[in-house]
Amino acid sequence: MSAQSSSAQGLGNSERQDAPQHHWHGVLDSAMDAVGHTPLIRLQTIAREEGFKCNLMGKCEFFSAGGSVKDRIAKRMVEQAERDGKLVKGQSVVIEPTSGNTGIGLALACAIKGYKCIITLPAKMSLEKEVMLRALGAEIVRTPTEAAWDSPESHIGVAKKLRDSIPHAIILDQYANPHNPLAHYYTTYKEIEYALQTSSLPRKDISVLVAGAGTGGTITGISRGIRDAQKEGDARTTVVAVDPVGSILGGGEPGNYQVEGIGYDFFPEVLDPKPPTVDRWIKTEDGEAFAATKRLIRSEGLFIGGSSGSALSGAIRYLHSADGQAVAKDPEANVVVILPDGVRNYMSKPWFLDVAADASMKELRDHIRGVLGRE
Ligand code: PMP
Repeated sequence: MSAQSSSAQGLGNSERQDAPQHHWHGVLDSAMDAVGHTPLIRLQTIAREEGFKCNLMGKCEFFSAGGSVKDRIAKRMVEQAERDGKLVKGQSVVIEPTSGNTGIGLALACAIKGYKCIITLPAKMSLEKEVMLRALGAEIVRTPTEAAWDSPESHIGVAKKLRDSIPHAIILDQYANPHNPLAHYYTTYKEIEYALQTSSLPRKDISVLVAGAGTGGTITGISRGIRDAQKEGDARTTVVAVDPVGSILGGGEPGNYQVEGIGYDFFPEVLDPKPPTVDRWIKTEDGEAFAATKRLIRSEGLFIGGSSGSALSGAIRYLHSADGQAVAKDPEANVVVILPDGVRNYMSKPWFLDVAADASMKELRDHIRGVLGRE
């Protein structure tokens, strides 16, 4: 099937912006051109430690201009709304309920393009995200984390109330906007495909894709991209979605958890949670996610955030499971894990203290203090 198949139909002229552009050429026009184009990096130490023979890789979205996977959808939703005449320079006010990263992507686009921006953000989301948003000129409204999604107090409810009371306000609505998954269909997936095709790896296909789900746009869009590019006779990719305990997306009851950006108490419209888009859901706990975050930083040198730890933890569990073992043992199999944002979003969070702690350096630290005569 071609890239213009079922998943991508009905876009009219918007395909033109989707001509694959895989790396930087010359000088960029603005930071909008520095959205996406992120590297796919092997996680060789972790793979070795786990006894995996497969080629385990992370798609490192913190390299994007605004620091996350969500820059891509912000860019696409804004540019599409401009093409549709829904955004008017000097007049429109962009309002969006988000866990922060979509907000940063939107505030970045609004700063460059000259729109006012209001972000509604649940209380649990980090101070760093709020500070970044303010620096970009956005107005922030915090909402109670425990508010049910459809209550008037939730980040979604407050965004709608503000939209109804502010002239020329618009919610681009990442939860329902088809350009959320399409951004990943046309960019995130295409970049992975290009990276594999131009690599020296023996096989160029993806055996397993692992990604967390918030709106579900990332996993839905990439999975559809993979499916539409597959030819008859190709081995099928297994798509594994990772969901925190406390979210209902992968089953279970709503509850509290610290990881930001993944999990919800409702099913967003853009998430296609069933096979063949998502083959399997894995539930992860905060503890294992933060331990995996530390591992990615400490052994791979990747400055990734908490939901990247969740994704890695889910990938490791899948590869050790009965279903995943054959892939784990296959030296030609490619396993791609989406690492959605960077640790600089979370340095004020209590869990980061543990990530930054290092007991193994105690002896050397004591020695240094002794030599320098310091307490
Ligand atoms: N991780 C982080 C840190 C995020 O901000 C998001 C977006 N909510 C995700 C993962 C999940 O992305 P998506 O909304 O595309 O499912």
